[in-house]
Amino acid sequence: MYSSRILLIFTKKYNNSFRNLIKQYRNLYSYHVKKTYFPSSLVFTNASRYSSDSPLKCWNCNFIYKSALFCSKCKTLQEPPESLTYFDIMGIPKSYDIIIVDIQTKYKELQKLFHPDKFGNKSEKEKQLSQNISSLVNRAYNTLLNPLQRGLYILELNNITISEGTDNMDPEFLMEIMEKNEEIEVALNDHTKIQKLTKENKEILNSLTMEIAEAFRKQDIKKAETHLIRMKYYNSINNRLKKLKHDLGIVE
Ligand SMILES: [Zn+2]
Repeated sequence: MYSSRILLIFTKKYNNSFRNLIKQYRNLYSYHVKKTYFPSSLVFTNASRYSSDSPLKCWNCNFIYKSALFCSKCKTLQEPPESLTYFDIMGIPKSYDIIIVDIQTKYKELQKLFHPDKFGNKSEKEKQLSQNISSLVNRAYNTLLNPLQRGLYILELNNITISEGTDNMDPEFLMEIMEKNEEIEVALNDHTKIQKLTKENKEILNSLTMEIAEAFRKQDIKKAETHLIRMKYYNSINNRLKKLKHDLGIVE
């Protein structure tokens, strides 16, 4: 009884000191974050996680810097760490469920931050780096905004790539797609029919988006993959309908 009380006190004490340690670590971390030149919301989030094995040194002044993108001492732009995901770049959680307004706001901020005008009187290397980061930001934005590309990207992060062939496809589903394409074939010059097919197709894409989101939420990657393969086919149909509408001069 007595010894267990001691043990309890000890554990409590130990827990407290452990908690203090974590607190100190957090303070240390927030110190580095505060020291970054740009507002932390503008610097790629999770940046502190990307410290490589060797200490990160500024290519310009050799200072061991703590922010992923700008030297804390001379504020020079740095090479973005390779491990940065598109989600890190856009500063949003790694999830299929995105808030469009958030990602759009972030995109505008980053576009401003890396605008070529900002680097006009900087060194060639910095100019080049800012261009590289700009295109990286564009890629991240366009990929994450698109429900199909976003899903395929999450699969990629899970080391899954969807094959191009139809070998492993469900024959019933392939039949369904063939029928959809035949319907389009028959309706080629029929404005009303094309519009109706477009609407139907968009509804299918929307419900697939919801099912994919649900699968990712449940961490059912296999199911997400199956739905994404379907989405890929319906997306091609959508593109075909878009082209047809364009050729027919249908404006919405
Ligand atoms: Zn520096």
